Amino acid sequence: MDFTHAFSIARLMQSRATTAILRGIMQKVSRLINSFTPEHYTLSITLNREARTFLGTVTIKGVTHLDDTLRVHAKDLAIETAQIDGREATWTQHENDELELTLDDMSAGKHIAVIGFSGTITDGMHGLYPCYFEHEGIKKELLATQFESHHAREVFPCIDEPEAKATFDVSLTTEQGVTVLGNMPALWQRVENGMQVTKFQTSPRMSSYLLAWVVGELHKKTAKTNSDVEVNVWATPAQSPESLDFALDIAVRTIEFFDDYFGVPYPLPKSDHVALPDFSSGAMENWGLITYREIALLADPKTTSISSKHYIAMVVAHELSHQWFGNLVTMKWWNNLWLNESFANLMEYIAVDALHPEWNIWLDYSSSETIMALRRDAIDGVQAVQTEVNHPDEISTLFDGAIVYAKGGRLLRMLEHYIGHESFRAGLQTYFKKYAYQNTEGDDLWSEFSAASSKDIAGFMNAWISQPGYPVVHIEESGLRQEQFFIGAHEQSNRLWPIPLEPSVPITPPLLETTLLNTNIQPGERLNVGDTAHFITHYPSDHLAALVEQLHTGSLEAIDRLQLLHEQTMLARGAVISSAELIPLLKAYQGETIESVWDIMALALGELKKFVETDKDAEANLRELSRYIAEREYERLGWAQKENEPETDTKLRATILSMTLYGESRDAVDSARSLYQTGIDFLDPELRALIISNQVRHFETPELISSLIELYRTTSSSDLQMDICAGITSTRSPETIQKLLLIMKDSSIVRSQDLFRWFVYLIRGRESRMATWQWMKDNWDWIEKTYAGDKSFDDFPRYAATGLVTQEQLDDYKVFFTPMQEIPALKRVIQLGISEIEARVELIERDSSAVHQALDDL
Ligand SMILES: [Zn+2]
Repeated sequence: MDFTHAFSIARLMQSRATTAILRGIMQKVSRLINSFTPEHYTLSITLNREARTFLGTVTIKGVTHLDDTLRVHAKDLAIETAQIDGREATWTQHENDELELTLDDMSAGKHIAVIGFSGTITDGMHGLYPCYFEHEGIKKELLATQFESHHAREVFPCIDEPEAKATFDVSLTTEQGVTVLGNMPALWQRVENGMQVTKFQTSPRMSSYLLAWVVGELHKKTAKTNSDVEVNVWATPAQSPESLDFALDIAVRTIEFFDDYFGVPYPLPKSDHVALPDFSSGAMENWGLITYREIALLADPKTTSISSKHYIAMVVAHELSHQWFGNLVTMKWWNNLWLNESFANLMEYIAVDALHPEWNIWLDYSSSETIMALRRDAIDGVQAVQTEVNHPDEISTLFDGAIVYAKGGRLLRMLEHYIGHESFRAGLQTYFKKYAYQNTEGDDLWSEFSAASSKDIAGFMNAWISQPGYPVVHIEESGLRQEQFFIGAHEQSNRLWPIPLEPSVPITPPLLETTLLNTNIQPGERLNVGDTAHFITHYPSDHLAALVEQLHTGSLEAIDRLQLLHEQTMLARGAVISSAELIPLLKAYQGETIESVWDIMALALGELKKFVETDKDAEANLRELSRYIAEREYERLGWAQKENEPETDTKLRATILSMTLYGESRDAVDSARSLYQTGIDFLDPELRALIISNQVRHFETPELISSLIELYRTTSSSDLQMDICAGITSTRSPETIQKLLLIMKDSSIVRSQDLFRWFVYLIRGRESRMATWQWMKDNWDWIEKTYAGDKSFDDFPRYAATGLVTQEQLDDYKVFFTPMQEIPALKRVIQLGISEIEARVELIERDSSAVHQALDDL
């Protein structure tokens, strides 16, 4: 799955899970594969879209390991009939999703179970669910599935565990005339009794969470890879045919790239990619039938920005890498989820870099994934990449984007550099050949890398995968010293890591495995060159001065400049240096021209905003600093795209203008206003959010707000919706804020999948923060009813923690959320949320006056 862009591409859904279940006593996850191993399923399901029901029969061939009983998963299904080996069996449905069939005199061994069942189609975006859209004024629906992590059991009885791989014969009975997609191509389709029946080819051995179907009115574009795999991109008729082209091209070339890179060809005859109007996560890698949010697949040539196209390419590559990592070879159990997600997170960059080297995607990696990983992984209590699962609801908490995706990917990238690209690739190739259609654990992969590199990889990687956190390396008189880096209060830590130092001049040994390494580093020399290892460096002030000097002499690469500034913001957050030191450093970056470095400059400036919120003079100084730093690039880039300008300039323009607008440059504010008056349809998609935001912030009227909400409601472009949301939430008007909070619950305006985006923007806005926090508290019953049981449920405490800044808010957060720590899905995220706000409150207390002073001294 893809959650990597969690807060811009927020996600959510409804759920049938009740508070009672959530607050239920701790259950242990039982592993049903130990009692019954399925080999083949024959599954027939009849869908009744209008009645919101389905009816099915499943035949499961497999081996029981117990006498007299056969257990499978089933949840919210009504069981109508059950037979084993042609004899009537009795059945019991247990609370923990288990369906137990019993038959006297049945001994362990091969058996065939046939179960008749029925179920309901509900709006929660898991199991089998409807997606809503409007085309030419008519309201229409698709039916789609989402089975990861354990929702297949909501649609048919099965052993719903990744290790329970089996082959599947599926047939679906639907209304006539609709497109019906499954994992495999259709074997045949015909009309029986007025209904359309579609039978799919037998699937290869696969896990239940990777099955999928999409049914409804869809159109497509098709192409073939050089190895003759058919690739299709699908969308509802509300989307234009041109919007399918970009993803199609990326998908074809990515499959060709992975065929070669992994040395094992794409395993299925076809690869479908479907944009769904309602979708919980970013995308889902169902084998042969990948489903996406519309914004993650569709690129309208007129309304999609370059950044959105890059995002689409990354998501497509992420999901396609799963066709090997995850689908062909699958983790045995969810504690090894990182085997899926950390790899997909790394492979998406490797693939896109190969397809589009001119995008300099590794710079984006450092300015997005690396930052997410370093920030979250510095909070005491964070989970390790590899984590045990004790309760079914904890499976959802494993999908922590910053850890299992970003940090895990970064650790694998570190490994790739440690053993070299060739050994890395050779290890992967033997891994896929050896374990195709099977299940693995981390050590299986480490063995292949050890064999390919002649190094002890398990010894090296297990320290990184199984320990939370990461080290800071201090450069001191006596040499190098490592200790765990923390933001905020923390327990004493004795953790150590084998750190590949990646120095700019040779150091022996190249790994820092103990606390200290006696070696002499000179000012101007650096560690972690290329930003590939998971640690940060604390340079003493004379060393830092020498590096700042190198900024001016041009001897630092873009990645080095980016890394240097970002590491300083981390050290300030962790109280190793004062936040005031960021101010002269930012000034030293004024001559910068590379977009990704500017992203970090904007971020460092953003770090300073929290110190000036309550001091008008300091805030004015910070705004002036922002305008001053961006001035030169503002003059160079202006507001309009130049002919044949590099894409990086087009993207950079948005950052520069946002800094200039924050600086309240009269010229910029007026220019944005006149551009707005030319009409939203004519705005550069790269700048659209900024221009709307400027209009709302400085020239708000009730008519402006109503017209933006109406446009949001009626457009079929999710890109435009995203920009309107970003723009309108920058309002300063208390009445408008209340209005926005009201429409968030109105699903005819804000799709439930998009609510988080609104919530994040509003809780982070200074003027809207308290109202939004109050809204969350007032509406908690609704939130729990609507989102509990979904992976996004924990986003409420998570994002609330990113917005709150004062002691009173911290106290209120504790009062409100502490009692909810008994909910397994929320426990960890609440603890981390408290630590995060505490750290912020402490930091503001500690550094504010120094920051005000430094701003005064400019
Ligand atoms: Zn994924």
